[in-house]
Amino acid sequence: GCDAPAHWCDVHHLVHWADGGETSLENSGLLCERHHTKVHHGFTIVRDADGRWRTWRPDSTEILILPRITAEPANSRAG
Ligand SMILES: [Zn+2]
Repeated sequence: GCDAPAHWCDVHHLVHWADGGETSLENSGLLCERHHTKVHHGFTIVRDADGRWRTWRPDSTEILILPRITAEPANSRAG
């Protein structure tokens, strides 16, 4: 749900570099400064085998993002 542009983001090591995580695309995710700080303070981020990102709060509840709702034009039912 973050709208930060990629050029504001840092590369986060999913398996931390200090724990032997390599610097590779498979072990990397782009996070803005705010969310990168959160991931290093109790939040968890994982990329599934199918490439889908999943995130959890420090209390282990998953953060679920609903699809964005796009407004229909006011006259879309005309005709
Ligand atoms: Zn962010």
